[in-house]
Amino acid sequence: ERQGWMAKLRAGLGKTASSLSGVFGGSKIDEALYEELESALLMADAGVSATQFLTDTLRKKAKSAGVDNPVALKNLLISIVADLLQPLQKPLVIGQHTPTVIMVAGVNGAGKTTSIGKLTRHLAEDGASVLLAAADTFRAAAREQLSVWADRNTVEIISQAGADPAAVSFDAVSAGKARRKDVVLIDTAGRLPTQLHLMEELKKIKRVIQKADGTAPHEVLLVIDGNTGQNAVSQVKQFDDALGLTGLIVTKLDGTAKGGVLAAIARERPIPVYFIGVGEQLNELETFNAREFAQALLA
Ligand code: GDP
Repeated sequence: ERQGWMAKLRAGLGKTASSLSGVFGGSKIDEALYEELESALLMADAGVSATQFLTDTLRKKAKSAGVDNPVALKNLLISIVADLLQPLQKPLVIGQHTPTVIMVAGVNGAGKTTSIGKLTRHLAEDGASVLLAAADTFRAAAREQLSVWADRNTVEIISQAGADPAAVSFDAVSAGKARRKDVVLIDTAGRLPTQLHLMEELKKIKRVIQKADGTAPHEVLLVIDGNTGQNAVSQVKQFDDALGLTGLIVTKLDGTAKGGVLAAIARERPIPVYFIGVGEQLNELETFNAREFAQALLA
């Protein structure tokens, strides 16, 4: 199965990789190569900061190591990218609190509900009992979709149409404690009726979770669509400023030309990437590995 996901990631990042690795297709290392690399990195949405860092570091290291051919230069870049991404590689740890309360945010369409479904399965496979909470009470479709995932995973769900999202979150944490669940996963809204402010709503949910359990939330995750590149990076900054993120789930890395987005995150707001989404199916959630990702990115 691991072979499978690596193949999938490679295929998915292929669009990014073909332009990046094309840079190293020639026979000599010259200024044109570095310029081409710079634009390929920018095209892959690595952002200005990571692009400059990577090309500068590559120049320096290539010089000091005496690298004299493009293939060796590409391998050097793979290891530089892997080192840059390394701080993002951190596991999601549960079990230090009962329950571990995980609040999940993300704009509509990012893949939040799907990722919660996948994460529920992942946790259940590790033997954890999970309680889901539908704190996106504004959209009937959101509640329905979450209860489909709850059924598929045979876990309980706290859901109440039209209720206050913070009240549902409070109830879920209380129920999670009373029922001795290992994890409470709280799904939040990705968009609100226009007169309301999403960040204020999410901050309120976080405050109320804290009231229900002084140590919670133990994790505040943001789900971002990897396919949106620089836009995803600005979402990370915005949500982190408002909520204090502890981790990310980056979805849709199974078919993107913007795989450089993780390099941008590593440079601009290095928040751990607990998981990456590589498909629509329940099992298509993988833990992030910096070295493997760097290899797939430049394969
Ligand atoms: P939400 O609005 O953030 O809750 O987004 P959804 O979970 O409903 O997902 C939006 C769309 O993205 C759906 O069609 C999902 O099947 C799809 N999706 C979610 N994650 C992935 C992924 O990792 N890869 C692919 N290819 N599609 C995904």
